Amino acid sequence: MPLKITDHWLSGTNKAGHTTKKKQTPNFYRPPFNTVTGLPDATIIHYTAMNDFDAAVKVLTTKYESGNASAHLMIGKAGEVTQMAPFNYRTWHAGSSYYNGRKGYNSLSVGIEIDNLGWLKKFGTDYSRKRLKAKGITVPKTDVFEGRHRNPKIPYEYWQEYTDEQIDVVFEICEVLRDTYGMQEFLGHDEIAPDRKQDPGPAFPMDELRGELLKDRSGEVEEGIVNTNLLNIRAGAGGQYEKVAQPLPQNAQVKVLEERDGWYKVKTEIEGWVSKKYITPTK
Ligand SMILES: [Zn+2]
Repeated sequence: MPLKITDHWLSGTNKAGHTTKKKQTPNFYRPPFNTVTGLPDATIIHYTAMNDFDAAVKVLTTKYESGNASAHLMIGKAGEVTQMAPFNYRTWHAGSSYYNGRKGYNSLSVGIEIDNLGWLKKFGTDYSRKRLKAKGITVPKTDVFEGRHRNPKIPYEYWQEYTDEQIDVVFEICEVLRDTYGMQEFLGHDEIAPDRKQDPGPAFPMDELRGELLKDRSGEVEEGIVNTNLLNIRAGAGGQYEKVAQPLPQNAQVKVLEERDGWYKVKTEIEGWVSKKYITPTK
């Protein structure tokens, strides 16, 4: 049975041949999410920065005196998956976070953790970090991705590679999440908390994931309706541009002429740019 979501839990077998294990975390907020549907409309990708799948699951499914964290999914190196909360429950993976006018991604998103060490430094012929090296954990050059982070302030040059199974399974799960919940955003933790976070970093093909999963929604939308109370319509694709008319009312029908940077150029009686998240496609 192919991978699908039943009652907010993954079911079926993934592309790497694994069924999903269940280990429920006590660290969650009950529904609803802070979205139009009350369900998540974004997905955030993380790495654990740890070396051990089971230890990482344990951290995210244990209640400590403070510093509790959780996520919905943990993806192992062979593509094995443990789900720690149903997708209609909010988990604690994002922390203080902000992107494209929205904040508080714990209440907007599904959190996917990937078993991966993250950034590394060179130690002779191997790669590690001080504290990992003290425990005898090193990574050979063949498993190291060399490249800078999209955030130029992050100085690290070496990262543990993700396995092909991890990337395949994350892409597969994200597609099922998109089809089930109508996900609008796939983002890295490093994009919603750029001052604090480096994960998933440059070794994860974030732009490819977005290109694959969001491409068929852009460019093909021809018409839509306004899904917010009053929608500003501007001279260009961004909040810095002048308003060109009175705001559009809820349920106003618009023709979509063009898309740019998360904005649609729309036509009603007049033409101008609106943030695309406030347009529900109808065609
Ligand atoms: Zn993270």
